[in-house]
Formats: sequence, C-alpha cells, structure tokens
Amino acid sequence: LEHVPYTVLPGEVQPFSPTTLTGQKLLEMFQRLLSHFGPQNWWPADTPLEVMIGAILTQNTSWTNVEKAISNLKEKGLISLERLLSLPAKDLAEIIRPAGYYNIKTKRLKNLLTFIAGQYDGDLVRFFNQETDVIREGLLSVNGVGHETADSIVLYAANRPLFVVDAYTHRIMSRHELAPEEATYHDIQSLFMDHLPEDVSLYNEFHALMVLTGKDYCRRNPLCRDCPLNRWEGRG
Ligand code: SF4
Repeated sequence: LEHVPYTVLPGEVQPFSPTTLTGQKLLEMFQRLLSHFGPQNWWPADTPLEVMIGAILTQNTSWTNVEKAISNLKEKGLISLERLLSLPAKDLAEIIRPAGYYNIKTKRLKNLLTFIAGQYDGDLVRFFNQETDVIREGLLSVNGVGHETADSIVLYAANRPLFVVDAYTHRIMSRHELAPEEATYHDIQSLFMDHLPEDVSLYNEFHALMVLTGKDYCRRNPLCRDCPLNRWEGRG
C-alpha cells in the first residue's frame, strides 16, 4: 500500500502507511475532507472545563445555540466548577436556555460537576491524569453522559486518542457501505481506531470534518453532487 503523508495542522506532516484496505480508504476520505474544508482545530473552547460544559450543551442541538449559552456563562464569570455548582438550578437553566432542553442539560451539567467535585475534589487535572479507560468509565457513570459526550471530553479535553462517533459519522459510513445501518457506536469507533494510527490530532480533525460534511451535505436528503465525498466509495 502507498505511503502517504497527511497534514493535520499547518506545517505538521505525519507519515502514515495504512496497513489495510480500510485504512487506505479512511485516509483517502480524510484527505478529501481536509482539502475541501481545511483544518478545523477543534474544540472551540479555552479550557478543558469549557469543553466539558460544551459537550453537555451540544447534545441534540446545533453549535450556534451552544455558543450563545457559553457566551452567557462567560459574561457572568461562570466557567468555574465551584460557581456553577453553587448556582441554583433554576438560574443556571435560565442562563443556558439558548442551548435548548435547558432543564435536562442543567441537571446533566450539575451531575457531571458533582462527580468531579465529589470524586476528585474538583481537581480536573487529577481526573484527566488517569488512564484513558478510567476517565471514560468515570464519565459514563454520570447520569446523562453517553458515549459521544464522554468520548468528546476524553478526546478534546483530556487529549487522549479516542475516535468520537456522532450521528453524521454513522450516516456517512453507512451510506458509503463501510458500516451497516444497524452498526453500534462501538462498531463504528472500532472501524476507525483499528485502521488508523492512535493520533489525537488526526482523530480531532477527522471528527470535526465528519460533522461539517454531515451538516453541509450528508443531510437526511443528501446533497451528493457538491459533496467532497462524491464519487468516493460507491456514491456519485
Ligand atoms: S457523497 Fe452523498 S452520501 Fe456521501 S457523504 Fe456526501 S452527501 Fe453523504
């Protein structure tokens, strides 16, 4: 198989030789998306805590709505574990209202922060300084944190190489017949992680690019004609 370098961040080229046909296909897909959209440098947040807050707020809503909620929190100086925990739930719900499902998200946010405060004295560095599996299992033990939210936090806040699978990724892989429609989160995550190098920058960019592809092109009614993945793996 061909030895192909890929560029993730400007100036950063990492050699990668796919050892399987699936790995080669995934690399080709990544390169097409990267050259179409350019590097995304996610997650759009200043601190790991802000990533965690954003990961809860973005559940079932667009990032534009999350931005408004985060901006409200910033204006009030509330990107702080202690201050968020001591804020009454009804006040927090009002502040994050633009993100939608604000009562549920208030509970989930409080659950997550209570877990960090209770188990780790509120010390995020201590929490993130553990084995990846321990961080992930800890997050998944919190009511309201599912696989996508947990893995987003692991990848974007803890900087550990876990591939994040969202509904767009599932749809794109299934439409290109690389995964069956009934594939589980774990099946699709393994598809990427078994065939790509364990690389935080690669997983970071790849997930961001899949989200853009889904939002812009791979909608319920797909806009294949203009999509960068048109004529790739059986579509077009
Ligand atoms: S080519 Fe069509 S099916 Fe494939 S990702 Fe683009 S929009 Fe979706």
